[in-house]
Amino acid sequence: MNEELIAAARALDAAGFMPNKSGNLSRRTARGFVITPSGLPYAGLTADDLVEVALDGTTVAGQCRPSSEWRLHADIYAARGDAQAIVHTHSPHATALSCARRPIPALHYMVAMAGGTDIACAAYATFGTAGLATAAVGALAGRRACLLANHGVVALGATLAGADALAREVENLARQYLLLLAAGLPPVLLDGPEMAAVTAQFRGYGRPA
Ligand SMILES: [Zn+2]
Repeated sequence: MNEELIAAARALDAAGFMPNKSGNLSRRTARGFVITPSGLPYAGLTADDLVEVALDGTTVAGQCRPSSEWRLHADIYAARGDAQAIVHTHSPHATALSCARRPIPALHYMVAMAGGTDIACAAYATFGTAGLATAAVGALAGRRACLLANHGVVALGATLAGADALAREVENLARQYLLLLAAGLPPVLLDGPEMAAVTAQFRGYGRPA
């Protein structure tokens, strides 16, 4: 499980989602969660560098300091029983959009992957603070991903692979949205019934009929 976390962190970093050692990943454990450490380059990360933290921030295993965003992860795990893993990135297009504090509307059906008809942008708060964690939990209501104003993206999932795929999709959607805005083409948004139909399709996706 920890090797999977390292591999996912390295792959996101290689894809340009974690510039300058930003971002962090975690997965839930019986005692809290395991999270990537603070300030270490992803390329050299090993499972020994991961830190297990209780929901109150106490380190329960590991030699390194946990990510400075441990509270963001702790508060999401406390609020969201459906979160088994969390991926936080500073991926370029989604982060650019977050700097305009723009939510992502239903410009493409894949917006439904985050659980609703849009992807909200949480109110601004200083990185690493309880205020940021509170804002993120609020913006995640009814959703599995949100933007963090002037900061980046957070995505949760029932699995690490699910949270990782969603963080990647948010970046993809943000890029599409910015391409439209740059071209001066306002997107034709999908309406509520169309998005409900997508959600129904997703429920059956990958299952035998
Ligand atoms: Zn961050």
